[in-house]
Amino acid sequence: MELIDGNNTAAQIVAELKAEVATISGRKPCLALVRVGDDPASVSYVKKKDQTAAEIGITSRVILPPVSTTQAELLALIDQLNADLSVDGILVQSPLPKHIDELTVFRRVSPQKDVDGFHTLNLGKVAQEDDSGFVACTPAGIMELIVRSGVKLSGKHVVVLGRSLIVGKPIALLAMQRKPFANATVTVCHSQTADLPSITRQADVLIAAIGKPEFVTADMVKPGAVVIDVGINRVPDATKKTGYRLTGDVHFPSVAPLCTKITPVPGGVGPMTVAMLMKNTLKAWRLAHA
Ligand code: NDP
Repeated sequence: MELIDGNNTAAQIVAELKAEVATISGRKPCLALVRVGDDPASVSYVKKKDQTAAEIGITSRVILPPVSTTQAELLALIDQLNADLSVDGILVQSPLPKHIDELTVFRRVSPQKDVDGFHTLNLGKVAQEDDSGFVACTPAGIMELIVRSGVKLSGKHVVVLGRSLIVGKPIALLAMQRKPFANATVTVCHSQTADLPSITRQADVLIAAIGKPEFVTADMVKPGAVVIDVGINRVPDATKKTGYRLTGDVHFPSVAPLCTKITPVPGGVGPMTVAMLMKNTLKAWRLAHA
């Protein structure tokens, strides 16, 4: 079994981006990070994104509207950022408070600044295999991790657990693209799938993105499979200072010995998501300067 090291791969991408940004004279790429309220996971994600931007030389602007912000106020803020020529990319951290409709917010971000890749136009471009748009950061990071760790998808059976717009659907579309590093046969499973283990056991590459701690157990995995664990779950743990530990959607101790390759949690897909956000921000800067 080989660990797919997301920290290492993300660090390589960050170094590549840093070298590219260093060649930019004049205004550097700028990313607006909008976090509504104080959801603890969102606080740590936005902090990490802000730090990584600084490391690369990308300017970041962290905007923290209070949890009481109305949808109209948030949309007005997005309009302002859309119109601001000094901002290349806009990220609105999910989840948003319950009184705000996420899809409406995602669709309001200008498609040219949609570095999160959640706008209808950018998701549509993924389906049309049009590379001019932005691919959502987590699925883009998964593909990059797969390619850079030498896993070949062509002709393989990829089973995706989860059908969210953020992970499940776009990763399924990417894996089935007519590209030499994709070309997979893809099955997507969700909460209504009957006899899930019989399907996951067929996977050459199993991508778990369901948000259920340690859901995927050894009986659900074919020996020799590659497993990509997207889940980031906080499980109460009294032995930790924070009072919780992070775990994936895969029961790592029992599944890892069966796999040829597997991503750990933390240190797998998570850091790749941040790296791809930075890559998208540089792409947005290039679009603004084209
Ligand atoms: P969502 O809650 O939006 O979607 C979960 C999906 O899993 C749904 O399609 C749901 O099915 C399916 N599902 C839930 N329970 C089951 C079950 N028992 N059997 C089969 N399918 C099931 O989650 P996200 O896609 O946003 O996130 C998934 C996980 O990935 C989370 O742990 C999240 O924290 C993590 N994540 C990690 C990121 C990273 O950077 N590494 C980035 C984004 C997310 P249905 O559609 O029927 O409800």
